Amino acid sequence: MANSGKKLVRSKSGLRMVSVEEKDNSPFLLEEPPWVPDQQCPTCIQCNHKFDLMKRRHHCRRCGKCFCGTCCTEKVPLPRMGFVDPVRLCDGCVDVTKKENEFYNKHLKLLINGTFLLLTGGDVENETSYCQLTSSHREVLFSRQKPDKNNTNSMEWVHDPINFESIQEAVVQSCQNEIQDGDNGGILPKSITIRYKYIDEMRELKLTVPDETSNRQAMAWLKAMEKAVRIIQTSNGPS
Ligand SMILES: [Zn+2]
Ligand SMILES: [Zn+2]
Repeated sequence: MANSGKKLVRSKSGLRMVSVEEKDNSPFLLEEPPWVPDQQCPTCIQCNHKFDLMKRRHHCRRCGKCFCGTCCTEKVPLPRMGFVDPVRLCDGCVDVTKKENEFYNKHLKLLINGTFLLLTGGDVENETSYCQLTSSHREVLFSRQKPDKNNTNSMEWVHDPINFESIQEAVVQSCQNEIQDGDNGGILPKSITIRYKYIDEMRELKLTVPDETSNRQAMAWLKAMEKAVRIIQTSNGPS
């Protein structure tokens, strides 16, 4: 069902899976960069080695710049560009991409699975809501109950959906100091405020871990949301 609106496209870098309609693409999807023309790069931009018949050019698939084989060796999955197979990346792009892939493999799944949180914002005051990112990554939904896959008609909403691309910031308000995020030692948040654009005004929605369940799942969801907002603000290159 999630893949029904997808198509395969072939580019000079490989096969990509994208949405049939551009408007349906994940907000995390990056466009392929234009490749720097060969004549503009006589030498590797990292080690300065001159290109010739023995030392060939390679374009990094993420930033599109020219490198020699030694500076652009690793092939890494790049789901943000929709590539089906791992692609060749320069060292700087390898670092950024590996961090993002951890987000894809772990945090994005948490966001889609969803969790119960308390909402405050607009005319909603401390109301319990099941919060989840849609599988297209385009919207965050706030339902009264945990959605039942077999019965989607009787959904009751606590708050209107938020278009993910309209989110400008996710600001952490308070943390549960003693609870550390296992993998990277970061501290898990207890509440965050999302600032998002609605037509031409800025709105806020505060998401808080319910007291009675000072649970890891809800905190990990908030952490994942914070990461998602940060990732969407990073562009193609390692800067
Ligand atoms: Zn080089
Ligand atoms: Zn690169």
